[in-house]
Amino acid sequence: TLKKSLGQHFLKDEGISQRIVEALKARPFGRLLEVGPGGGALTKYLLQLPDVDFKAVELDEEKAVYLENTYPAIRGKLIRGSILDIPAPWEGPFTVVGNFPYNISSQILFRVLDWKDQTETVVGMFQKEVAQRVAAKEGSKTYGILSVLVQAFFQVEYLFEVGEQAFTPPPKVKSAVIRLTPRAQIPAFRSEEHLRRLVKTAFNQRRKMLRNAVKGLFPPDVLADPLFDKRAEQLSVEDFAALTKRMS
Ligand code: SAM
Repeated sequence: TLKKSLGQHFLKDEGISQRIVEALKARPFGRLLEVGPGGGALTKYLLQLPDVDFKAVELDEEKAVYLENTYPAIRGKLIRGSILDIPAPWEGPFTVVGNFPYNISSQILFRVLDWKDQTETVVGMFQKEVAQRVAAKEGSKTYGILSVLVQAFFQVEYLFEVGEQAFTPPPKVKSAVIRLTPRAQIPAFRSEEHLRRLVKTAFNQRRKMLRNAVKGLFPPDVLADPLFDKRAEQLSVEDFAALTKRMS
C-alpha cells in the first residue's frame, strides 16, 4: 500500500536511477547512507557498488520488510526509523543519497547541515522548486534562506531535471537532482547561530530594505553602511557571513 503522507513516489525509470548513481560515483566515498530506499529503485544499484559500507534508513515498516525480502544483501544495513530522528549512522565521514520524500525536503537539508562536519557529498532528488532554491545565486527570485545556509558550507550543482512520468505514482511537481560537495574554504562568520538568525530575519521581510528588515540585530553605526540599502536577495553568501561579525 502507498503512503502519501510519507511522500512515496517510486522511481520507475531505471535510466534516472543510473544517472543518480553515476553522479554519486563521480565523487570518492567509503560510506554511503541512502534515505528512503522505498521499493529499492536506487538501492539495487547502490548495493552493487564495490568497497562501500552501505546503510539505508526507511520509515515505512512495510517497505523495510519488502526490501529485506527482495534484496537479502540489505539485511543488517537497514535502519528502521526517520532520517529526522536517527543519530548519524557513523562516527566518521559519509555520503548521502536519496530520492527524498518531498514533504520533508527542507528538514532533510537541515539534517544534512547538522551533520555537515561528517557529510562528504550529498546527491539527492528534490522537488524542482526546492532544488532551484538550494542552488540559487544572489539576485535571483528563488534565492533565500536555504540557498545561503546550504551554500555557506557546500558547493551546489544543479545536475538534471526529472519529469513526473519517471515515477509511480507521478507526483504533481517536477523534480531535479542536485549534488552538494563540501566547500574547500568556508567563509568566516561569527557563529552558525548568528548566521542563521541574520539570514532568517533578512529573508522574512525580503521585500524590505535590509536596514529595516534587520535593524534589531545591528548597532546604529553599523546600520549606516550603504550595504543596508540593498535587499536580502542582493547579498551574497560571503556578504552575509561577513555581516555576522558586525552584529550586536
Ligand atoms: N528511493 C525510492 C525510489 O526512488 O523509488 C523511494 C523514494 S520516495 C520519494 C521516498 C521514500 O522515503 C519512501 O520510501 C518513504 O517511505 C521514505 N520516507 C518518508 N519519510 C521518511 C523519513 N522521515 N525517514 C526515512 N524515510 C522516509
